[in-house]
Amino acid sequence: MRVRAYRFRAYTSKTTARVLKTQLEVACKLYNALLHAEQEEYEKNKRTMSMNELRQLALDLRKQNPEFQVLHSQVAQQVADRFYHARQRFFEGLANKPKKKKPHQYLSLVYPQSGWKLSNTREVGQGKNKKRKARLRLSKIGFFTLVMHRELPLEQVSQVCVKLNPSGRIHVIFLVEEPEAEEEQQSSKEPKNAVGVDLGITRLATLSDGRFLENPKPLERSLERIRTIQRMLSRKKFLSKNWLKTKRRLAKRHEHVKDFRRDLFFKLGALLAQEYDLLVLEDLDTEGLIQKGETRTRRMRLYDSSFSELRRCLEWVFQKQGKTVLAVSAYNSSRECFLCGRINQNLSLEDRVFHCPYCGFTLDRDLNASLVLLKRAGWVPPGVPAELRPLPPLPSLGLGRHGVAMKQEAPSVRAG
Ligand SMILES: [Zn+2]
Repeated sequence: MRVRAYRFRAYTSKTTARVLKTQLEVACKLYNALLHAEQEEYEKNKRTMSMNELRQLALDLRKQNPEFQVLHSQVAQQVADRFYHARQRFFEGLANKPKKKKPHQYLSLVYPQSGWKLSNTREVGQGKNKKRKARLRLSKIGFFTLVMHRELPLEQVSQVCVKLNPSGRIHVIFLVEEPEAEEEQQSSKEPKNAVGVDLGITRLATLSDGRFLENPKPLERSLERIRTIQRMLSRKKFLSKNWLKTKRRLAKRHEHVKDFRRDLFFKLGALLAQEYDLLVLEDLDTEGLIQKGETRTRRMRLYDSSFSELRRCLEWVFQKQGKTVLAVSAYNSSRECFLCGRINQNLSLEDRVFHCPYCGFTLDRDLNASLVLLKRAGWVPPGVPAELRPLPPLPSLGLGRHGVAMKQEAPSVRAG
């Protein structure tokens, strides 16, 4: 079984939103109470509690404390699960030790099996404005209207998560368990065509077929706006009504950048998956790259293009269609000559063109790197690489809609 998330925008009344906020605060308190109990147990008896013990403790705390009773019992249990998993990740060396959470860090509640009901799915609006809406009832919280932009396999839903974003927007995420069998069969098919993709700062992605996607640098472009809002925020009285309002505006701006990015990444993934069966990426240690980056702008751009998220999106799209993603070693991939395979040690970060001192081969730096990746995945790249050219604009990227990336530096070519 594999788990897939379906995320929908949700709307609700001010009252229900307030109830949700209160419950998040209560859940946060419960989380901290469990953390505290665990610490005491460890100090006294030098042992840690099991998942069942933690769940039972959460239920007991709920019984004793009227404040915790506003939470649905399963939601309270899930808070215990959350703490348990955070602690396990710490034990496995994957995360820091779980700390006391502050209310603004606790943003979501999870309904595992019961306590929620989806009803009244209906079509509203006409033509372009046509939308599917549904009504979601969360026990102990209230009603939400969901905009269902995609089909949801309701019978397979295993969890429902409601998330209150810092900007005040609400999302509901359904986790769906789907059998893997069919897709395994598909991916066992021999891939017929492969593409190597080099990720970079100046160009977000360079494909081994010569096409490339400029980095729209959404964060950098809207950074000025974000800075302006931040300056406004610093002049406001901490936690005053105006401060909170500005804080929400800032969060909204950040979320727009995030949405823009996700949209772009998924569209690139869809385009690649349409044409190729196998995607070859470099096994890039972005964290290391960020630390080594020299200038602040460069670091910020690295962060902004968020390679790891891009990879996750591309992998998701490919796997969903039963196609394969291969990560190959990135070691020296930009220094290796794709034609003769020797390493050009003199290539610096500033060099945009790769020139091989051994065989005299000359090619765009990123295109050479993407061809090297393809080679490392065991594919024979074409003897003469295709010419470098920009990808046509990906459909309805929402450029400008969010007030970011209005001016595209990429030499844009209209599709068709
Ligand atoms: Zn060479």
